[in-house]
Amino acid sequence: MVGNAVLDACKTPEALPDFITELQRGLHDRDASGLARRRRTIASPQGPRVDVDGRRLIAFASNDYLGLAFDPRVMAAVRDGIDRWGAGAGASPLVAGHFAPHAALEEAIAAWVAPCSHARALTFSTGYLANLAILTALAGRHDAIFADRLNHACLNDGALLSRAEFVRFPHRDVAALRNRLQRSRARRKIIATDAVFSMDGDIAPLVALVDLAHEFDALLVIDDAHGFGILGEGRGTAAELGIDSQRLVVMGTLGKAAGIAGAFVAAHGAVIETILQTARAYIYTTAAPAALAAGLLVSVELIKEGTARRAHLRALIARLREGLSGLPWRLRTSTTPIQPLIVGDNAAALALSDALWQRGLWVPAIRPPTVPRGTARLRISLSAAHTVADVDSLIVALNAEALAAQSSNPFAPSATQHS
Ligand SMILES: *Cc1c(COP(=O)(O)O)cnc(C)c1O
Repeated sequence: MVGNAVLDACKTPEALPDFITELQRGLHDRDASGLARRRRTIASPQGPRVDVDGRRLIAFASNDYLGLAFDPRVMAAVRDGIDRWGAGAGASPLVAGHFAPHAALEEAIAAWVAPCSHARALTFSTGYLANLAILTALAGRHDAIFADRLNHACLNDGALLSRAEFVRFPHRDVAALRNRLQRSRARRKIIATDAVFSMDGDIAPLVALVDLAHEFDALLVIDDAHGFGILGEGRGTAAELGIDSQRLVVMGTLGKAAGIAGAFVAAHGAVIETILQTARAYIYTTAAPAALAAGLLVSVELIKEGTARRAHLRALIARLREGLSGLPWRLRTSTTPIQPLIVGDNAAALALSDALWQRGLWVPAIRPPTVPRGTARLRISLSAAHTVADVDSLIVALNAEALAAQSSNPFAPSATQHS
């Protein structure tokens, strides 16, 4: 019940506080420069076809790469999990929120993605929290974190929160990283990188990075949000590239290919125990519902058996790349389900996304600061739940928009973009 004094204050029109006016100005500027983000409300289940504003769209916008979010076996496992374990975990994991399904999930993941034989795993309610936990537990004031420039925002936030020196290196530039490691006087060194880059779809040079970790006695933290379930026959990017090292700390998310929510860290037992004992982002937050862990146990099984889904996904990726090869906008080199079409200008990327929307296709435009200036893009994301016909409709639509852009061109590529 809201107090009467509060209600009275709301009824009495007072001058708008300067604070609010200032916020409004900021929002207006953001809008005027084409940077306002928009949120759509979906009125149908997660899947390649969604209803938005009364329209049915084919969506190339989700990270549900294997189509597990609406898989009947996964959904049944979550439902059964609720019946058996209740709706919520009730407490943080070290107080009273760690249930048998959480423990079983950690074991299943450690056995499946383990970077080395005696590795353990720890689960989290989100990937964002997992990255905060890893970097704050492993690095502090006297340490340094070396980060690829295109890393995901939450790796950067984890590095900042750790208070370690934050050293960024150019995208996938091993020589530049080596140089920075050589010059560093930090006590502990951590190399942190996306394994598959979330807005580009390309893969970090992990073999060389492990070598550097050996050479400079560092740990290598990889964020495999987009590799787990897909690459390495589902084990992730480290397995794809044949890497196995006790210096490897693998973080993966469970809301993308695994279809539910959450994240894990798999690493040497001492790394895991240090995170469990000291990471505030692990200790001071309520555990994810045990029912989700129960569902994720089934997701992991389906990932293990997912050879056919992955083969279908690879075929869709190849078909899309072939079909878009003649466009005036450049498709970034990527072998993963993330296929970025670089448009360049912010407004042009938005206009192209809107034009596709009008054709019943949902492909989000990604703009700075999520991606570097001048590289606004459509982030096409494919799923094993897409059909060949879905992909063909996107190919047809983009080629039609390219033709339209050649005559009158609100979103023709400018001559200045070579990204
Ligand atoms: C999605 C994502 C995250 C965050 O994971 P959530 O579980 O969504 O919080 C972290 N890193 C990368 C590279 C991601 O793409």
